Amino acid sequence: MTSNQHRIAVMPGDGIGAEVMEAALGVLDAAERRFGFATARERVPGGALLYRETGAALPEDSFNRARDADAILFGAMGWPDIRYPDGTEIAPQLELRVRLDLFAGVRPIRAIPGVRGALADPRAETIDLVILRESTEGMFASRGKGLVTHDYAEDTQRITRACTEKLSHFAFNLARRRKSRGGKGLVTLVDKANVFASFAFMRQVFHEVAARHPDIAARHHYVDAMALDLVRRPWEFDVLPMENLFGDILSDLGAGLIGGMGFAPSADVGATHALFQPSHGSAPDIAGQGIANPTAMILSLAMMLDWLAETRAAPALADAAAAITGAVDTAFGTHRLRTADLGGATGTVALGRTIAALVADGAVDPT
Ligand code: NAD
Repeated sequence: MTSNQHRIAVMPGDGIGAEVMEAALGVLDAAERRFGFATARERVPGGALLYRETGAALPEDSFNRARDADAILFGAMGWPDIRYPDGTEIAPQLELRVRLDLFAGVRPIRAIPGVRGALADPRAETIDLVILRESTEGMFASRGKGLVTHDYAEDTQRITRACTEKLSHFAFNLARRRKSRGGKGLVTLVDKANVFASFAFMRQVFHEVAARHPDIAARHHYVDAMALDLVRRPWEFDVLPMENLFGDILSDLGAGLIGGMGFAPSADVGATHALFQPSHGSAPDIAGQGIANPTAMILSLAMMLDWLAETRAAPALADAAAAITGAVDTAFGTHRLRTADLGGATGTVALGRTIAALVADGAVDPT
């Protein structure tokens, strides 16, 4: 391995995770050739099928290799029938978020040219927002700790000042970067501060942080009203930080606005580590058929290259990320390709190859 190689832990996981990962790695090959950089990729096992075979969903060696890489590229893990003795599902991605302190779940909801989402309004073509899901606490802090008795069950939400401050700063810095590329410069906290003390606390800390970012507008919105407004006027929002469970739910709603789970990429980012994965799961209903849409995985790859460009001062990777995003837009917008989730016949491999070819031949201007 040469010193300018970026070490990537590749974790394909279960079901369509492995299928969309192969398509994305073909795109990465093309980007490396065109933009003159190299990655050292290490396959790292994990997931529900591994748990069924070995009793470990994320062996300690896998965790260590993921932790030691420059970035983690993740497919999807979990399978509905494979569960821990307490009845919950295998979810190594949750363990990685907590153990690597990946507090910021960045989930861009961007309309792709030519892809029709759930809304008929022509303004839906301009949807470009980011759901920023806090990923280490909130309701999920209760995971594995819930109390169940014969008569009642209880899970407890936890919101800390430290994490809310980190997430809020992250939101304002993200909005500032987006503003420099034409974004709205607006951060809207999504909460339920009218009912729960924990959310009133979160809102107060958020506005304390907002005062230190006076160049970016700060607002807040109740989660129920946001569910309505994400359907009624999503094009008016920019960066939306929110509690873990709210982000889990609203990011799926957001995916529906732009064509479905196959178009929704994500990044789980911490101070030192980051993991990049499509927002979707292992999709057992379509696994093994070659029809999964790899776009979310490929856009997650672009997010990884952008993050590496910024954190490792490697500008060629930012050009590669822009070229990949542009190639996705060209494949759907100009070439009118249609995957099965859009009612079309373009399969996982074919779409991956088309996007790789568009990246390779320079048909897409990275600027
Ligand atoms: P899912 O995201 O796997 O699937 C939901 C629906 O969206 C299905 O109809 C599926 O066919 C469709 N879909 C998802 N991705 C698609 C793609 N790329 N192209 C076309 N269609 C796509 O969610 P689920 O069915 O609730 O969960 C299945 C398994 O995945 C469960 O075991 C769950 O725990 C796990 N899961 C894992 C992650 C993760 O790894 N981060 C996230 C969510 C769910």
